[in-house]
Amino acid sequence: MGEPRLVLYNTLTRMKEDFRPIDPDNVRMYVCGPTVYDFAHIGNARPAIVFDVLFRLLRHLYGEAHVTYVRNITDVDDKINARAARDHPGMNLNEAIALVTGKTTDQYHADTRALGCLEPTIEPRATDNIAQMRDMIQALVNKGHAYEAGGEVLFDVTSMPGYGALSNRKLDEQQAGARVAVEEHKKNPGDFVLWKQSSGDEPGWPSPWGVGRPGWHLECSAMSARYLGQEFDIHGGGLDLIFPHHENEIAQSCCAHGTQKMANVWMHNGFLQVEGQKMSKSLGNFITIHELLATDKFGGRAWPGEVLRLAMLMTHYRDPIDFSRRKLEEAERLLAKFARKAAGAKAAGPVDAECVEILCDDLNVSGALARINALDGDTLASTLDLLGFSHYRMKKAAGVDESMIAERIEARLALIGEKNWAEADAIRDELAALGVQLKDGKDPVSGERVTDWEMR
Ligand code: AMP
Ligand code: ZN
Repeated sequence: MGEPRLVLYNTLTRMKEDFRPIDPDNVRMYVCGPTVYDFAHIGNARPAIVFDVLFRLLRHLYGEAHVTYVRNITDVDDKINARAARDHPGMNLNEAIALVTGKTTDQYHADTRALGCLEPTIEPRATDNIAQMRDMIQALVNKGHAYEAGGEVLFDVTSMPGYGALSNRKLDEQQAGARVAVEEHKKNPGDFVLWKQSSGDEPGWPSPWGVGRPGWHLECSAMSARYLGQEFDIHGGGLDLIFPHHENEIAQSCCAHGTQKMANVWMHNGFLQVEGQKMSKSLGNFITIHELLATDKFGGRAWPGEVLRLAMLMTHYRDPIDFSRRKLEEAERLLAKFARKAAGAKAAGPVDAECVEILCDDLNVSGALARINALDGDTLASTLDLLGFSHYRMKKAAGVDESMIAERIEARLALIGEKNWAEADAIRDELAALGVQLKDGKDPVSGERVTDWEMR
């Protein structure tokens, strides 16, 4: 049997297509990473998790050493400057920026780790790639795609015949629909910034167009070309990035390099919504990953990272998710069931082939989970590992009789109900001797005392 056929939905063609890597020895994927001015919210967790599953699947299909996943850190952006000035008034702006980006990047790493995401192969920072961005602008200026005006270098969208293909927008429609007043210095309302002059203590780098800083879209074009080449396999991000961000990345990259395409497959995850609205910082309806995992701000309790991961993956990546406490509870129950069934198993067995086949249909994770429900033992553990679930096994470790523990916990709760503290404590000590540590808590809904356990 050969490898299963991987089929992916391509936003560019609006179809599911067979995936054929340019070079099977080096499958290359770029995903737009965070702008590090504030902690990531759980909507931002969605692309991190979805593309982590794809990364794991590609590694499974092509071999770990044959997949390169690049996810950048945007550490130069006007939102960062504003946040640094707000949070550290009176401090030198560049020092304040370093504090904000350092702290936010560290938190992002902690968050994605807690969600079971592998580190990308390369995580470039925009500020380490300024020279590449300047070169790209120079190429665009030389080829007549960019012009200097009003202290900026702008991309001329009418200079590219295919502009708008990804988002399926025609230029004349875009202009007729543009509600924002045309800025005087722009030739066309859709022209976007490649370089912008900096003043005062704003971060800036020398360039032929004055000391300045790059535009956001340019960062991804320069970093993807540097680390993955002018043409690569997969480019991903959330739905909101299709226009203008990804459209503009394509325009810059194709025009600077003289290529027909930037990436073969463009993939976009749907939104995580709260009460029908996209979770976003601007709407103020967001909860950070950190708050969900480490505080009781959502549903009155903290949630394990793998519960959030599973809750996210129960919905197909292109569909919207209505986020709720019920969804987390459902995921938690499913994870507990897997943990029971995989108790004592090792993730050393073969991954279930049927499950891989289901995943190969445009990341049909919910289909794969239905199949996983029918698995047990080492195959269950290995297949869950492929989807990035492994922490659950550490908690409920091998070699203990789970039903016995559950029974003793029930008995102890009954004794506590009778205020028979001495015997209740005796059971706790008895279990402790087996290495089982009890954790008392309260069910946030019923208020009832509940007891969880873990191996020490
Ligand atoms: P941003 O920091 O806004 O650039 O977002 C980082 C990533 O998260 C991008 O890929 C966005 O498309 C994605 N994203 C932002 N909000 C949501 C949301 N509510 N649901 C799913 N993805 C989102
Ligand atoms: Zn990008």
